[in-house]
Amino acid sequence: MKTADIFKNKTVFSLEIFPPRPDTDESVIYDTLDHLTDISPDFISVTYGAGGGKNGSRTIKIASDIQNRYGVESVAHLPCIGLTKEQARVILDSMSDNGIENILALRGDLPEGSTPAGDFRHASDLISFIKENYSFNILAACYPEIHPESRNAVDDLHWLKHKVDCGADHLITQLFLDNSYFCDFREKALLAGVDVPIEAGIMPVTNKRQIERMVKLCGVDLPKRFIRVLEKYEHDPNALRDAGIAYAIDQITDLIALGVDGIHLYTMNDPYVAHRIFDAVHNMLAVRSLVS
Ligand code: FAD
Repeated sequence: MKTADIFKNKTVFSLEIFPPRPDTDESVIYDTLDHLTDISPDFISVTYGAGGGKNGSRTIKIASDIQNRYGVESVAHLPCIGLTKEQARVILDSMSDNGIENILALRGDLPEGSTPAGDFRHASDLISFIKENYSFNILAACYPEIHPESRNAVDDLHWLKHKVDCGADHLITQLFLDNSYFCDFREKALLAGVDVPIEAGIMPVTNKRQIERMVKLCGVDLPKRFIRVLEKYEHDPNALRDAGIAYAIDQITDLIALGVDGIHLYTMNDPYVAHRIFDAVHNMLAVRSLVS
């Protein structure tokens, strides 16, 4: 099933996982999936390392197993930076041969100091390529706090609309910790003519190193309320995990009340955290039609 069709009658709840590193045992991901699939998410997406990633074959195998072994819809990420069209074709053929129907088409980031190569400059180039040659349902990324390389929100929204015009059927946001960025962004995206479902990407922050890395990588704003939680519990891992889960539940509760199309949970491959969040919000997901 194409993910864009799931939004018709409900608030979507989806999960994101990453494949185990190439030098580690692949089977650990199946323990994770045994527990994550318990909650019957609407789909699970699997990340893919940029630059034709050595781990790409794992992404394809795991996304295929989610679909064919667990009976849960899957989405394979695909960053195009550094790929030639021929390389993209080999990967996409393999995804198609493995029964994958949904691709999250991304640009990816070049490792520091390297120069752009390959046939794709932007995610929109990959989206057009997929649209011309395949029948995949296409997802794309968006940024409530604008992409760090964008000059301003107007430019960022212009290129987002371009991605949708090229064929993106469904968008997932970068993580954010302050819902006002999401509300603002959703309104502006609608005004710019972006008329596809937008899922809110939520990352439960359960350790301090994780959030420091995310802030550096994605430039997300840390609200004062969040910093207070972080500072109070940073030396108590269990308390910080509880606080991170509570913060994510609070964010999701508010987003559902605001009529969000869907919640995409960045699970960090942690089924315990995903379960606690899902258990707290699953009754709210069912009542979207009453409030939106
Ligand atoms: P683009 O859409 O190409 O945008 C990048 C920048 O270029 C933006 O500033 C945009 O405004 C501008 N732009 C876009 N199109 C054009 C154009 N045609 N002309 C001029 N400017 C343009 N990375 C991975 O390596 N693997 C993953 O699995 C992965 N998963 C992700 C999942 C989600 C939900 C998100 C939000 C991000 C993910 N990323 C992943 C990170 C992503 O690759 C980076 O954020 C990257 O910097 C941008 O990717 P993009 O697809 O948004 O790029």
